Amino acid sequence: MFVPPFCPYAACAAHIRPPRSAWWAHAGHHSTKAFGRVNRFRCAVCGRTFSTQTFSVDYYCKRVIAYIRLERLSASAMSIRALGREYKASCATITNRIDRLSRQGVALHTSLRKEAGQGEALCFDGLVSFERSQDFPADIGISITAHSRFVLGLSHATTRRSGRLRPGQKKRQERRYSSATFEKRAIQRSFSDHLDMLHRDWATSTTRPLVLITDEKPDYARALRRHPLYLSQSAERRCAHVQIPSTAPRVFANPLFASNYYEREVRKDQAQHHRETCCFARNAANDMNRLYAYLVWHNYSKRYSIKGPVHKTATHAEVAGMAASAIRAARVTMFGERAFLSRLKLLPIDECIWKKTVHQAWSGGRGRVKLPNYAVA
Ligand SMILES: [Zn+2]
Repeated sequence: MFVPPFCPYAACAAHIRPPRSAWWAHAGHHSTKAFGRVNRFRCAVCGRTFSTQTFSVDYYCKRVIAYIRLERLSASAMSIRALGREYKASCATITNRIDRLSRQGVALHTSLRKEAGQGEALCFDGLVSFERSQDFPADIGISITAHSRFVLGLSHATTRRSGRLRPGQKKRQERRYSSATFEKRAIQRSFSDHLDMLHRDWATSTTRPLVLITDEKPDYARALRRHPLYLSQSAERRCAHVQIPSTAPRVFANPLFASNYYEREVRKDQAQHHRETCCFARNAANDMNRLYAYLVWHNYSKRYSIKGPVHKTATHAEVAGMAASAIRAARVTMFGERAFLSRLKLLPIDECIWKKTVHQAWSGGRGRVKLPNYAVA
């Protein structure tokens, strides 16, 4: 029998820590086409009602789409429209389910992230792609552990297009830029978001300093020199910055190999980031949600070594030091039990993915995405 774990309303006293005594009572049921009979409950503390579906990842859905398969197909270079054809569903339905996957993934990844890769060096690099138009290049910041290649976080920065343009392209760009709002020092802020995450979650010691490997972009050095992670160093908490020229060969011996490897994976596995393609992201927030769903699949489901023997099925998270049983349990929860934003303590780097507040230069800074109430509860 289903037992409500807590009251789903954030303002209720039974939301974070429900009382030990009976705080809920049955309140009838209703029938649905997708889920059959759905039992309802009433909270004795706030008096509001909810149902079994309130705690399901499919809350408010009218059709069931299996998330495990959707995650795998989305991580195998299928575009939104291709997925829509596969499931005989609209692009909006597919985007909605990937949003849910991504939010569930944020909840899983933020709870497990600090257990992985402690002691390894970290690589950081920006994957340059574009959204909406090539006039709006996106620099997607990715931090990844150097050995286990466990991705820690994603951030987003929109930059101005550089390089030579034909007169027609220049005119079109000027027209677009006249109504656009660009974020100042976006790449510096993007890197700082990762430093905030490391400052909170990354343990260092005298024998295990934090080693950050990046290319020679001055924005990275500038952001690090001003960040508390660097300024508050002590004998126990040291950090070192290693800069590698971006012209260095992209071989295994390159200290930035993990970043180069992950960029290659994203380029081949995410349809909107293939090179020279007519398939591109129209919306920065949706793009980041898809990339976050891909990050979770990569860390917790994809084999670490593709060329290894078939019996070696360890994932990147396991190589980074996590127990396989803990990952399995977290993945079962991720695909079934709805995560509540009000019960999580997210850093800005993860919260902007969940709330879809990624800066969109072409629409005055804010995306036009309106989140449903259940997503921000
Ligand atoms: Zn309540």
